[in-house]
Amino acid sequence: MTLLVQKFGGTSVGSVERIEQVANRVIESQRAGHQIVVVVSAMSGETNRLLALAKQVDDEPTPRELDVLLSTGEQVTIALLCMAIHKRGFEARSYTGSQVQIVTDDAHTKARIQNIDVERIRTDLNHNRIVVVAGFQGVDGNGNITTLGRGGSDTTAVALAAALQAAECQIYTDVDGVYTTDPRVEPHARRLSHITFEEMLEMASQGSKVLQFRAVEFAGKYDVNLRVLSSFEEGPGTLITYDEEDSMEQPLVSGIAFNRDEAKITLVGIPDTPGMAYKVLGPVGESNIEVDMIIQNVGEDGTTDFTFTVHRNDFKRVLEMMQTLGKELGAQQVTGDDSIVKIALVGVGMRSHAGIASTMFEALAREGINIRMISTSEIKIAIVIDEKYLELAVRTLHAAFGLEQQD
Ligand code: ASP
Ligand code: MG
Repeated sequence: MTLLVQKFGGTSVGSVERIEQVANRVIESQRAGHQIVVVVSAMSGETNRLLALAKQVDDEPTPRELDVLLSTGEQVTIALLCMAIHKRGFEARSYTGSQVQIVTDDAHTKARIQNIDVERIRTDLNHNRIVVVAGFQGVDGNGNITTLGRGGSDTTAVALAAALQAAECQIYTDVDGVYTTDPRVEPHARRLSHITFEEMLEMASQGSKVLQFRAVEFAGKYDVNLRVLSSFEEGPGTLITYDEEDSMEQPLVSGIAFNRDEAKITLVGIPDTPGMAYKVLGPVGESNIEVDMIIQNVGEDGTTDFTFTVHRNDFKRVLEMMQTLGKELGAQQVTGDDSIVKIALVGVGMRSHAGIASTMFEALAREGINIRMISTSEIKIAIVIDEKYLELAVRTLHAAFGLEQQD
């Protein structure tokens, strides 16, 4: 008998009807001979609604109380799902994060899981019960409710799968797998039957929203078989694996991720002296603002240009910071642009193939798309371009690398 952890996201439990469908589905899995642990998100929109309520009371609510509030969303769905399972004559038990003892650190609103006590779950499974656990939440060492950050139910599911040594962690969502790129931008995008952890991590960090980055990281670390499937239709979904395919030749590029949330800031003509990068980026880091791409030009006449990107939400703050700092450092000019996007080609096949960058740049040049920044790693080439070219660039690259035809 294999143990499966099945996670259903917000849209999959977005109404009572959908919760009933989830009940049917998990019962079906149990009847097929599996032990089933279910993790659910809050009903779609609920976490945002709770967040908005909190903001009505206080613009910066206390993190501890925010967690008490936000964790209620998932508590609603675990109870409703168990009721739906009971009505169908099957046994199920719901648990909040603190009840099953998903122990986290005390970093409210972005807590990390440290330990899970699976004894209670095991007992239920041995009694043929379906176990339903609230995603996104845990409890710290002092009994305070914590939450794991937005999208954190994925992480709950993966962590449970690791702790229970489940055969598979199945993430049911509103798409039927991981695609070569977002089908809303490129209708020819194709579902991948499998993708490596490394690629999935890169896709998630470059802007793909299918899986929470931390969940993929966790699954990779603990060797959890992760699968993304549709909760609305049957199908094999996408398996995230360790194996780089050996039987077939690995495609050069597996997917194209993009991120509309980028903004860039440039300090023009700052002194080309040791410690300058630190002087520029130190204060940004100290303000807990994440920097993504960084580019420094070759110095000329003792000065250089320094460009970096941040999340669009942080743009204004960082631009103001840099305008002040730029004066102190003697920059000739400080400029910023928040109508840019980042597009990244991802593929482990890049390791063993040269010429991918030139194919990419040639394809973009043919469409007259100007590249503003470039950064590469072993399995990724990322570029920054003007926002207005996003769709065109994604489609152009999708075609240039033949992504609609592989597998
Ligand atoms: N309900 C939480 C959120 O919206 C957690 C999740 O859905 O994974 O972020
Ligand atoms: Mg979610």
